[in-house]
Amino acid sequence: MKKTDELETLPESDSADEHLPPIEHQAIAKVDLGKIAQGVRLILEGIGEDITRPGIEETPSRVAKMYAEICGGLHHNPKEYIKVVPAETHDEMIIVRDITIFSLCEHHLVPFFGQAHIAYIPDHGRIVGLSKLARIADNFARRPQIQERLTTQIAELLYDGLKARGVMVVVECEHMCMAMRGIRKPGSKTITSAVRGIFRTDQRTRAEAMSLINRNLS
Ligand SMILES: [Zn+2]
Repeated sequence: MKKTDELETLPESDSADEHLPPIEHQAIAKVDLGKIAQGVRLILEGIGEDITRPGIEETPSRVAKMYAEICGGLHHNPKEYIKVVPAETHDEMIIVRDITIFSLCEHHLVPFFGQAHIAYIPDHGRIVGLSKLARIADNFARRPQIQERLTTQIAELLYDGLKARGVMVVVECEHMCMAMRGIRKPGSKTITSAVRGIFRTDQRTRAEAMSLINRNLS
């Protein structure tokens, strides 16, 4: 087991990021902003708003750009983040905790947001830069989603892409569709997990990861 301060010395490969335009730039090129704006105008009309009112005149085009940004993950393949950094001697557990994510519930198109925690045990030193774990989580979150699928997608990409010995992903989110409407329970958290490989078969390893993920959670 490596302590966090030791983990920070693992090599990062962020130089590669400079060649990738930010997600939203790629997305805006592929998104039909006019169509979204038209839809937003219809929603405003539908709820009985006066769409000529100065305050919301620009709202449809503003919202269109916002959707391109918050759903930008749809147009980016997170596999690109799986760039193996050779670290031949490192076969210990690696955990990145408290990755803040914002996603959009695909049933209601309102946000759900919270934290993702990713643990994995590399095989033959195949690791990825730590920031890539956060980017992968962010990428799968930026699209119409459900939390269960988001959790599984992160785990599977790492497990298959890195051929890791084990992967465990825990996601805890608050869903605005449970807070603002329906059951109206603000503050409640939904926790999902996906475990692959050794975390599935070895209870001690799984417990070790869980205790590190849960430690001093604020
Ligand atoms: Zn929902």
